[in-house]
Amino acid sequence: MTENPQIASPIRTQAILNRYHLSAKKSLGQNFLTDLGVLDNIVEAAEITKDDNVIEIGPGIGGLTEQLAKAANKVLGFEIDANLLPVLDETLAPYDNVEIINQDILKANLPDIISQSFDSDKKLKVVANLPYYITTPIVMDLITGQTHFDAIVVMMQKEVAERINAKPSTKPYGSLSVIVQELNNVDISFIVPKTAFIPQPKVDSAIVKLTQRTDKPVEPFDQKAFISFVRGCFMHQRKRCGIIYRGYLEKHRKSRLKLKTF
Ligand code: SAM
Repeated sequence: MTENPQIASPIRTQAILNRYHLSAKKSLGQNFLTDLGVLDNIVEAAEITKDDNVIEIGPGIGGLTEQLAKAANKVLGFEIDANLLPVLDETLAPYDNVEIINQDILKANLPDIISQSFDSDKKLKVVANLPYYITTPIVMDLITGQTHFDAIVVMMQKEVAERINAKPSTKPYGSLSVIVQELNNVDISFIVPKTAFIPQPKVDSAIVKLTQRTDKPVEPFDQKAFISFVRGCFMHQRKRCGIIYRGYLEKHRKSRLKLKTF
């Protein structure tokens, strides 16, 4: 018996799409990775070992999931598209350390699901080729939620990665740069050309690695107030931040926002 080629190889991906009569749904950001070298680089950038539990957002037909399953202790995938469940059942059948949940990641109760699905003695990482239409809400949820992740390694549009990593006084610098960089170390691990996907997206992508910052004095501060303050500053760029800050103090009188923490 000949062994199946890997799920993400172009030949197998195309065969799976044909057999299930699937066409990638643009509305769900479905662009399937078909470059095994890129998948290796993602797993390497996330430094996945058998000591890691991994959450994958949007397993698709299982190309990245397969590589994660080989390297990690366990993989939990959140896939919103119910039509992909029978496909994943078949493609990932050889891996007994994969669990797929048919759920919108933005609606999932992560702390509860994580405590039910994973052993707590392992590291917890997020690795994903993100659906591009909701990259920013997903990243914001991950970095401001209650769950601590040892690393978040995600593929996104190159332009969004550049905004996340932008330095002050550059064009892409904005509220997203300030908020993400305040809470995380940011590393653009590598750029992925659009030719690495079926179907090809219009733009190139980048793999971004986020790890929580440990170099700041840990003083509890009101994250919600911080985020709306930063967004306010960038929305009203002609007002001085001091004026906006006074507005927020009045609005959040009981808030514990401390300017010195950022
Ligand atoms: N991981 C696969 C790969 O790399 O080839 C597919 C990645 S594709 C860019 C994004 C995947 O996310 C699709 O399978 C899509 O159905 C799924 N998706 C889209 N929105 C989602 C959501 N809100 N929650 C969970 N999955 C979602």
